[in-house]
Amino acid sequence: MPIYTVNIYGIFTSGVASGSTVAQRRARLEDDVRRANEIWRLNDENRINFVIARRFIINRTVNATNMTSDEALMNGSAPTTIINQVRNMTNNAIGIYVIYLSGNGFSNDADSVGGAEPISFVDENNYQFIGQVALTDAALNSDLFAHEVGHVLFARYITNPQNNEIIYNDDDPTGPYTEIDPNTGDLIVVEPYHSRFTDNIMYPITFGTNRNITAAQLELAGTSNIAL
Ligand SMILES: [Zn+2]
Repeated sequence: MPIYTVNIYGIFTSGVASGSTVAQRRARLEDDVRRANEIWRLNDENRINFVIARRFIINRTVNATNMTSDEALMNGSAPTTIINQVRNMTNNAIGIYVIYLSGNGFSNDADSVGGAEPISFVDENNYQFIGQVALTDAALNSDLFAHEVGHVLFARYITNPQNNEIIYNDDDPTGPYTEIDPNTGDLIVVEPYHSRFTDNIMYPITFGTNRNITAAQLELAGTSNIAL
């Protein structure tokens, strides 16, 4: 398997943890990217290289506790508006745009969120994604960035064979993660975008010890058009 490169654009909003000085901002972004590089490899020949392309400061406070993680990446949200401003400055460079938000988590208890966004679209064989990741203060010194880049790189457009509609799909090859109600035995949670393996970085919870990936995950991530 080849080595892929994924460019990372870091965006610091006002008042975030480890965001007051240049040294703090550099350290926080470097820590997140270092963890992603540690995790997204099977050996030195099979890996994704996450490379810090540029860092931006935006003089605006965005408090994550005022929104759910889903709302954070919706079109027109404060985080995506800022990401679009930064994309203007990079001439729409292909990569993952990670925005740091203040507040100790989103209102739905998630600490981070990530996904892909099309910047051009013709059909399922002709489009271009960029990645969007939002990290709250609760994501400091964690593997959450490494988890969210998985959601970004697994994303693609596919044709739904049932009705020929083109749909966004970010299924994890080691999914689905499921939960069963212990009382009723009913399947209450099915998340195809999360791993069912507790030792995997794409398990819904990052413990700091679940840092494994599989060859299938690495291969799928490498086929993202964000991976150069
Ligand atoms: Zn997740």
